[in-house]
Amino acid sequence: MISHIIHEADGVKYVDYHGISGIKASFSTRIGGVSNSPYDSLNLGLHTDDQSKSVLKNREIFGKTIGMPYQRWITVQQVHGMEIVSVDRDFAGKGVTNLDNVIPCADGILTNEEVIPLVTFYADCVPIYLFDEIERVISLVHSGWKGTVGRISANAVKMLLQEGCKLNNIKAIIGPSIGQCCYEVDRPVIGKFKESFSSWEKLFKPIDEKHALLDLWSANFTVLRESGIEPPNIYSTNLCTCCHEELFYSYRRDKGKTGRMAAAIMLEPGDPK
Ligand SMILES: [Zn+2]
Repeated sequence: MISHIIHEADGVKYVDYHGISGIKASFSTRIGGVSNSPYDSLNLGLHTDDQSKSVLKNREIFGKTIGMPYQRWITVQQVHGMEIVSVDRDFAGKGVTNLDNVIPCADGILTNEEVIPLVTFYADCVPIYLFDEIERVISLVHSGWKGTVGRISANAVKMLLQEGCKLNNIKAIIGPSIGQCCYEVDRPVIGKFKESFSSWEKLFKPIDEKHALLDLWSANFTVLRESGIEPPNIYSTNLCTCCHEELFYSYRRDKGKTGRMAAAIMLEPGDPK
């Protein structure tokens, strides 16, 4: 069974996922870095207005803490699209020290290579970790409301199947992100969900005629379940980034002026098949 704890090591706090064999998965908090307000302190987003020197130091700190050296991270541009790229060791370090060589126009990454950390960045959007412990394939996708409507995690499931994974063995984690408690959206967004989800009404708590609270966790759970993943194989962290100011950055709460957390997943060196 998958579970999570908030672990602290050398002053760095992070969400650590347990119960997965041969794969490391974690999610950073804002605690343990060197950035100043409003990016205090473990800001990992290079595309923010924070000093890049601080962000790189933070990436080094977080990578070391979770045992995924930052020099080998593979990152993508994250454009709220549906594209997922399959990567190998030749991509290691892409977008890590500057954004000039980040993998462009993609919101998801997939690999079957060991010790290549896949890393994406967040301040409210939903990280979806997907993996098959038997076939040893991992994927990580950035699923904000657009990615959720466009069903990017269903694309990841398709790619895992193309890699030889069996549907019954695929597991998914819905990471920390903005909860329904805090995520008010307006009619145009509600309309998009109406087009994409048959049971769209269950995803919303109405506020007034034009506004409602959107449950992105439940929407992503639906996408994963409709892709054929068994419900017991889907784990939702149920941690709201907007509610927990002491732990997380939140784009919505901080009105855009904030840092970014990282989701990270890596195949540990294992026995050869
Ligand atoms: Zn909340």
